[in-house]
Amino acid sequence: MKVIIVGGVAGGASCAARLRRLDEKAEILMVERGPYVSYANCGLPYHVGDVIEKEASLLVADANTFRSQFAVDVRTGCEAIKISPDKKTVELRNVATGEVTTESYDKLVLSPGAPSIRPPLPGIDLPGIFEVRTVPDARAIREWIERGSLFLSGMHKYSGFQTVRPKTRAVVIGGGFIGLETAENLVHRGFDVTVVEMGDQILAPIDPEMARIVEGYVEGHGIRLALNDGVAGFEKAANDTLTVLTKSGKSYPADIVILALGVRPDTTLAKMAGLKIGERGGIRVDEHMRTSNPDIFAVGDAVEVKDFVTGEWSLIALAGPANRQGRIAADVIAGRDSRFRGSQGTSIIGLFGATAAWTGASEKTLKRMDNKDYEKIYLYPNSHAGYYPGARPIAMKVIFRKSDARLLGAQALGEDNVDKRISALAMAIQMGATVYDLEEAELCYAPQFGSAKDPVNFAGMMAADVLRGDMPIRHWDSAEKGFLLDVREPMELAVESAPGAVNIPLGQLRARLGELPRDREILVICRSGQRAYYATRVLLQKGFKARNLAGGMLSRTHAATFWES
Ligand SMILES: Cc1cc2nc3c(=O)[nH]c(=O)nc-3n(C[C@H](O)[C@H](O)[C@H](O)COP(=O)(O)OP(=O)(O)OC[C@H]3O[C@@H](n4cnc5c(N)ncnc54)[C@H](O)[C@@H]3O)c2cc1C
Repeated sequence: MKVIIVGGVAGGASCAARLRRLDEKAEILMVERGPYVSYANCGLPYHVGDVIEKEASLLVADANTFRSQFAVDVRTGCEAIKISPDKKTVELRNVATGEVTTESYDKLVLSPGAPSIRPPLPGIDLPGIFEVRTVPDARAIREWIERGSLFLSGMHKYSGFQTVRPKTRAVVIGGGFIGLETAENLVHRGFDVTVVEMGDQILAPIDPEMARIVEGYVEGHGIRLALNDGVAGFEKAANDTLTVLTKSGKSYPADIVILALGVRPDTTLAKMAGLKIGERGGIRVDEHMRTSNPDIFAVGDAVEVKDFVTGEWSLIALAGPANRQGRIAADVIAGRDSRFRGSQGTSIIGLFGATAAWTGASEKTLKRMDNKDYEKIYLYPNSHAGYYPGARPIAMKVIFRKSDARLLGAQALGEDNVDKRISALAMAIQMGATVYDLEEAELCYAPQFGSAKDPVNFAGMMAADVLRGDMPIRHWDSAEKGFLLDVREPMELAVESAPGAVNIPLGQLRARLGELPRDREILVICRSGQRAYYATRVLLQKGFKARNLAGGMLSRTHAATFWES
């Protein structure tokens, strides 16, 4: 059996290696247009930032490793330009020489990825404008930065007037994870960074109130955010610099521009081969990663996947799914019945020591689908036992189905151990867990790692309290109709208070019940929702109509003060 794999990075390389492990006899040819196979594109922003100093560190396994360890015929600098499904052949072009050869296949695997979106804007090809997708891209950015700093350090040496090195300016177009990671790394390299984002928030997959917290954090670390503004073009300015022009008429001077406008599935070959393309613009595959042609498989960023939670077709450009899909395609080609379960978009980004991570459906996705069968909670637990040094709060939003308690999605932000909470919740979603399962989850605990009630348990307990009716909640967007009762201490109100709220500290509540109305719904507020929960329990048992305002004051401002706590 001869298998040709197009694309030699995440999906392609994992397919080749797995196939060899399953089938010693298969003839495997892996072609890659670029100079490297199996490189860590996820590490590229950190190479730009010099965190990963050596380019070689990004090369996970080179072509020789694939040849010697896996007996895979690897051809780099080799582009697949045409598939003839009827003849079962692929035309390959040597990128350097232009020579075209034809290879036959029994099975073909496409893993061409998703190139960066590059709109035909005026000036987009000017020097100093870069993408971050490949090793040569990162090298070009580093060379550009070095060139600038050499020039400036030279000036510093030769001119007595230039004792202060001018701050170099970077403009990053796009506030997704590649844009933000690169922005952070440019800050570390001394740039004054502006991120221009067309949407009204950064990190589009998460909900806006959670994105606000991340926005506050990155702004606190020096990144300027220009939201609700699209880039209109680029102009050359004096001294090899650029001006970025935006649709709102603003202009931003830049010594370097990074384009990070998102990615689009590469379907060129698939379309030429007549393969079915889905409604989201990716190659349509079944759960075995088989395209509409039974001998052609497709994996990775180029394919549409079923969203595991919503059941919708979606495009999820992540390394984990690409690797798993490559492995599944290899399994199926080798005769095994492996299936891809769908993807839930589990993602993580580190920014200036903080972490944002998310999994499953966001509230805005559920709203777009007109799904009303969900509830959400906000919580702000400590990353580990508060008495052990170094505990940091985690802002969490957990979304679950009202009708059957099934966990639908989670988003979390914080400076310590956010990843393990979202990883645990991601696994729970994939296993179809309910919030009652989270209550019962047995997780690692010692004070430096967590709490006897881990944030994951805590989320389950809160959500279960809501569903069991032990803690009725309301959200701030519908708070105006109730009687607001603030159970914090008076000194806390000096920092921030909710207009119109009556203050009875929790410790005085039982003695002052006579001050509260019995004919109106009482909405109870505290800082994060915990004391309000205790108060709500008192009031419900005393016959009041009470609800907890979910997430307390931290959710009212959507945690403008979260990071200071
Ligand atoms: C800067 C950056 C940071 C990222 N960080 C993360 C992260 O932290 N976490 C995460 O989960 N994901 C991350 N990703 C996404 C992740 O890298 C991708 O989801 C994953 O690499 C997709 O794998 P793939 O095989 O589909 O495509 P790719 O890995 O992009 O590989 C596709 C390859 O196919 C080659 N190719 C295309 N067409 C042809 C052709 N006709 N002939 C020959 N070769 C061809 C291309 O040259 C390319 O090298 C990041 C991506 C980038 C760019």
